[in-house]
Amino acid sequence: MSKHQFQTEVTQLLNLMINSLYSNKEIFLRELISNSSDAIDKLNYLSLTDENYKNLRFDKRIDIKIDKEAKTLTISDGGIGMNEEDLVENLGTIAKSGTKSFVNNLTGDAKKDSQMIGQFGVGFYSGFMVADKIEVISKKAGESKAHIWTSSAGADYEIAESTRETSGTSIKLYIKDDESEFLEEYRLESIITKYSNHIPFPIFLEKEVEVEVKGEESKEGEDKETQTEIKIEQVNKASALWRMNKSDIKKDEYVDFYKTISHDSTDPIMWTHTKAEGTLEYSTLFYVPSTAPFDMYRVDFQPGVKLYVKRVFITDDEKELLPTYLRFVKGIIDAEDLPLNISREILQQNLILSNIKKASVKKILNELKKLKNKDNEKYQEFYKVFGKVMKEGLYSDFENKDKILDLVQYKSTKSDTLVDLDKYKEGMGENQKEIYYITGEDELMLKNSPLIEKFKAKDIEVLIMDDDLDGVIMPMVTEYKGTPVKSVKDAELEDTEEEKEKKEETKAESKVIVEKIKEALKDEVKDVKISERLNESPACIVFDKSDPDFQMQQMMKQMGQNNLPEPKPILEINANHEIITKIANSNDGMLISDISHLLLDQARMIEGMKLDNFYEFSKRMNKIISKAI
Ligand code: ADP
Repeated sequence: MSKHQFQTEVTQLLNLMINSLYSNKEIFLRELISNSSDAIDKLNYLSLTDENYKNLRFDKRIDIKIDKEAKTLTISDGGIGMNEEDLVENLGTIAKSGTKSFVNNLTGDAKKDSQMIGQFGVGFYSGFMVADKIEVISKKAGESKAHIWTSSAGADYEIAESTRETSGTSIKLYIKDDESEFLEEYRLESIITKYSNHIPFPIFLEKEVEVEVKGEESKEGEDKETQTEIKIEQVNKASALWRMNKSDIKKDEYVDFYKTISHDSTDPIMWTHTKAEGTLEYSTLFYVPSTAPFDMYRVDFQPGVKLYVKRVFITDDEKELLPTYLRFVKGIIDAEDLPLNISREILQQNLILSNIKKASVKKILNELKKLKNKDNEKYQEFYKVFGKVMKEGLYSDFENKDKILDLVQYKSTKSDTLVDLDKYKEGMGENQKEIYYITGEDELMLKNSPLIEKFKAKDIEVLIMDDDLDGVIMPMVTEYKGTPVKSVKDAELEDTEEEKEKKEETKAESKVIVEKIKEALKDEVKDVKISERLNESPACIVFDKSDPDFQMQQMMKQMGQNNLPEPKPILEINANHEIITKIANSNDGMLISDISHLLLDQARMIEGMKLDNFYEFSKRMNKIISKAI
């Protein structure tokens, strides 16, 4: 026998389980059955694909046994099993980043933390919500030794050699005194049919039944003699839900099945079930969850889609079954025409699979659009959680760009709620031919940016894109349903006759002042220009088309490119602004220099940039204030 320490995170998790206040404790059984089902899936796959396992005989079933006297509940499967190393690895540590971050997010508040169990689904360890001790006896397929893993939570566990006839795993839960409901047959039966009715393997429950004793005819009026017998009955349908006809599946069954495959106890927002026949035969069942998986923004996220071929599980670890911008989707793809022994390595190159993927993406995007039109409130719920991830598709999925553009929504200068591009178009005036947006870091800053003053003056709506990804994604989006999409930085709004006249009048003056400011700022700027976009502010900065703008510069720095030379900004001035018209005629070189620098510094700040020299800025500012008083 050997003693082992749990990894710290596991101890934390176990403490949470043992002291859990989570009210929906029954999910432990769903988690354990789901593990067993996965274990059978894995062995099934090996037996079909690996020579070493070809002749292996194993039971594709799960058995559940209650011992009321010993107060134990045992879940056994004929799956792949675990050897000593696996037991240490799987039941002593947490490998998955998602689970780790779940643990690290625990607050210490028992009630709050317990609620998170349902949202997250914590697998094997959830057994400790109802048991104070767990024994796992397991024998790995193809190996001769069996092992027993024992733990009463706490900081350590034990592993010793044991015996088990066939390969597989038995998990014996020593049920806590106040959880004895989980030793009642009818209770277990109802949990199993609720969550695990449609997993692909049969679940047998060992039941005690009263039967009449056969023999002499009992006399009328006399109590019949009975005795208890053990009867083993299959309790679930084992129908592989995704293969059933849609019309035979109830809403609840879809929802409960989702909970089984996703380890998520909250209901999904929507699902879509397809049974394709014809040249390409397959079944898919996809769910959109209502909460984000913990690892959604991690590179090593766990994919949510399982691949089956003719009901045989192939893999749940293939990130390319759906594009990464749909990585929140959970579900199943079951292909009819793939070879069973397809190696996981070449899955990505498989033509059939890539056609299924294509059709699946279209289907999911279409369903989301339907949801948006039919139940917008629900769609907004979805968008809040997954909109940002889905937007990545604008960058990576050229083929479906239009479909994704139908789904995205943005803040806007004219609306307090998010607007989509169709709504934006509806609000366009007769003369407006383009869709405009501004990107940056901060909503308030963007809404007050000098770059959109003219748009506001002309009552043109501008989409406010304050998501850091937008700056990278939007240059790829050049049109929506025939209407050009443009950054306000690249837009040229047409002048009215009045504006044209005014410009003509001040042209000569403007030229002079531009030269003066240029002279004052020297090589602090790339250029000084009369602005076409300003209305209220005296000045703003922009970057040359060939230079990255400020947002892009930030992005590049974040990605570690620190040594690039900083591009110099172009200062644009508002020729009609009082400050400019007033200094236009001045010959006070010092005043022009101070004001030019103040204009530049101000414009930099409004863009969210830092000043090179705060001291100089405040010195100049004070000089001007003193003059004004
Ligand atoms: P998850 O199932 O989400 O990976 P668990 O904590 O439930 O997390 O289980 C951890 C690992 O232990 C599983 O990934 C699997 O490798 C192994 N495991 C759990 N139950 C079984 C079982 N019945 N048979 C074989 N392996 C199992």
